[in-house]
Amino acid sequence: MKRICVNCGSSPGFSPEYLVTARSLGRVLVEQDIELVYGGADVGLMGEVANTVLQLGGSVIGVIPKSIADKVSHSSLSTLHVVDSMHDRKAMMFDLSNAFIALPGGYGTLEEISELLTWAQLGLSNKPCGVINTNGYYDLLFQFLDVAVTEGFMKQVHREMLLVSDSAEALISELDNYTVPSVDKWMGTKLGS
Ligand code: AMP
Repeated sequence: MKRICVNCGSSPGFSPEYLVTARSLGRVLVEQDIELVYGGADVGLMGEVANTVLQLGGSVIGVIPKSIADKVSHSSLSTLHVVDSMHDRKAMMFDLSNAFIALPGGYGTLEEISELLTWAQLGLSNKPCGVINTNGYYDLLFQFLDVAVTEGFMKQVHREMLLVSDSAEALISELDNYTVPSVDKWMGTKLGS
């Protein structure tokens, strides 16, 4: 694993455990000589992961849209790419990275996880994606995804693409061993056929 993209809150959350997880992920990335790719901001959990990697001598690539670069961009990253739009940012973070880890976050984080898994189930990506489930933060999301399967909107094999662990080491090892499901997303026959 050469580069991992971390998607997570631009807020720190209320519980100190979220910041502890962000620091611990940063430390593990440096220990395993993995470069961090992330959204390029100096705020919230995302800033904490980046600052930890930088403090420990690791390498950080930020990708930020110009619309928010003036407000929140980190001033001392190894590399900072300023791009035209949020779409360009996600495309570049995707191209630069071998795998994706999400920590707790809000809409931005959910959108990033969701897009990665959407691409994967369509066969457009074979890059693994997992979450570190600090404090059970994502338990309700997992329950919802199970409902999507039982209600016929998602295949179990695609539900299982979202890897999960409580620790950075365990998750990175799962990402390393991931194999892409070779099951088509389509369910049923075309309406009208
Ligand atoms: P959220 O989970 O809503 O806080 O959004 C965080 C995720 O969306 C990060 O992984 C970023 O890539 C992106 N994002 C959302 N808000 C910001 C922000 N103020 N600065 C930088 N990136 C952000």
